[in-house]
Amino acid sequence: EAVLPLPPQTRVLTISNQKGGVGKTTSAVNLAAALARSGARVLVIDLDPQGNASTALGVDHQSEQQSVYEVLVSDLPLSAVVRPSTEHEHLDCVPATIHLAGAEIELVSMVAREQRLRRALDRHLESMTEPYHYVFIDCPPSLGLLTINAFVAAREVLIPIQCEYYALEGLSQLLSNIELIEKHLNPTLRLSTILLTMYDSRTNLAQQVAQEVRDHFPGQTLQTIIPRSVRVSEAPSYGQSVITYDYGSSGSLSYREAAAEIARRGAPEIEESN
Ligand code: ADP
Ligand code: MG
Repeated sequence: EAVLPLPPQTRVLTISNQKGGVGKTTSAVNLAAALARSGARVLVIDLDPQGNASTALGVDHQSEQQSVYEVLVSDLPLSAVVRPSTEHEHLDCVPATIHLAGAEIELVSMVAREQRLRRALDRHLESMTEPYHYVFIDCPPSLGLLTINAFVAAREVLIPIQCEYYALEGLSQLLSNIELIEKHLNPTLRLSTILLTMYDSRTNLAQQVAQEVRDHFPGQTLQTIIPRSVRVSEAPSYGQSVITYDYGSSGSLSYREAAAEIARRGAPEIEESN
């Protein structure tokens, strides 16, 4: 396993794109697993009511389980719902249950409704003697209050982009939302990383989309591109990342390379504005 630099402070990355099926959950789980294998302590917070990240990490998310839902709406401490993954000893997960679907509406009338995840996460990190090196927040496919909570809790946004025709559609809305959050709720938020996913090198279209994304975001787009691979899509049904499921596969290799790039680039610098 490649030795990767560990960040001096916890890096909190939210994985976001209001489109479904672009590889948010797959990227959250596999990047987290790759970094955990390289020696980092990693937490994945599942913020999608579907609970796909919880499933992929082998963590129970039946509706009777306490989850990030109780953290957001009942002030349960995060430490009460952190579960070890079956994937790796340094990899934990805060599961989501289907109740989270209701949180989008329940949060509307709550005090500090945008800050609830931030406060819970900050409290948890401060209480740890050995805090996580990385926290990945897996967002639902919407720009509602759950995603806003993720943007406020995070320092970095990672956008997975599927290499297909409509890839860039909706991106400007996502970017302007990030800008609004930065202006009003979280001045330290940065779009740090764009990851091209489900790439099919046989099509010209995929190559064109990849090039277009690089032209728009030269500083953010990772060199590594995640190929479309059956092994990647099979792994979650075994409660595994593709890295454990098939270490030598192209999907595993590319997610390990993407994780290494993220680790080597480090956190984005925040310019002081005083
Ligand atoms: P999102 O979280 O954005 O909705 P997912 O990560 O769940 O997207 O991915 C959508 C579907 O595509 C899933 O069935 C997943 O297994 C599959 N998938 C994701 N990445 C790849 C890939 N690189 N190759 C093949 N299938 C993939
Ligand atoms: Mg998902």
